[in-house]
Amino acid sequence: RTVYVNGQYLPEAEASLSIFDRAVLFADAVYEVAAVIDGALVDYPAHQQRLARSLKELGIPLPVDPDALLDIHHELLRKNALTEGLIYLQVSRGCADRNFLMPHKATPSLVLFTQAMPLLDTVAATNGLRVISRPDMRWGRRDIKTTQLLFASMMKTEAVAAGVDDVWLHEQGMVTEASSSNAHIINDAGVLVTRPLSNEILHGITRAAVLDYAAESGMQVEQRTFSLEEAKTAREAFITSATAFVTPVVEIDGVAIGTGRPGPATQRLRELYILRSRSTHGG
Ligand code: PLP
Repeated sequence: RTVYVNGQYLPEAEASLSIFDRAVLFADAVYEVAAVIDGALVDYPAHQQRLARSLKELGIPLPVDPDALLDIHHELLRKNALTEGLIYLQVSRGCADRNFLMPHKATPSLVLFTQAMPLLDTVAATNGLRVISRPDMRWGRRDIKTTQLLFASMMKTEAVAAGVDDVWLHEQGMVTEASSSNAHIINDAGVLVTRPLSNEILHGITRAAVLDYAAESGMQVEQRTFSLEEAKTAREAFITSATAFVTPVVEIDGVAIGTGRPGPATQRLRELYILRSRSTHGG
């Protein structure tokens, strides 16, 4: 695999970041993951807008101009002949002696790599996911897409050790997100219910697109907090992320959601999302 690090395309075995890079020492870095289908980027402009916002929140400059960044994406996809999978991008503040005080003049590091993987036909899409709930103990700026992912990684690992697929995190019983995706339910009235945007959740690119498509297709959408209890008695539940698209959730804490099988509205939203993503390849 060829990867990109700070201006160079390299075989992955030859690529490296300094141990003094603040990504390593402080998770002082932000990232994006975009899906690639049919060799093309999905929702690229939205990912770039969120990247710009994350960087601004942390005061890290983007080390290349936006046109050059898009060229790097295309070149890396080409070099790796990627047709289906993801492209990962990380910008860190750069290198400095270890100090909690952020350096004024570090040179940001830019890293990109691709990962080939099936996204369209997956076991999770067919069978749905089983999740357990856990208190959300992450920090309070989950709207910034930083590489500080340790709690989410711990919870994902705990879920798999418990024999299920993932967690739904909650604050005082109100659902925030899954470990690496946004959480949604569809109630008995057919209304899509999802937590509103705030500092408590990542502003998912897939979430935004799916809410648009749902509304366009005549579905009612309510952005409000919802509880685990409400989720367990919902007709359908699902998650969204750049690589999961729309994936059904069929069980929460051992309680079957709806029929315990992926629901029709969720499946329709997944199909709609994939169809629209393919027809709006902007990359
Ligand atoms: N929430 C969290 C915590 C995430 O890590 C992610 C994506 O990785 C998402 C939500 C979904 O965001 P997106 O749809 O932009 O991939």
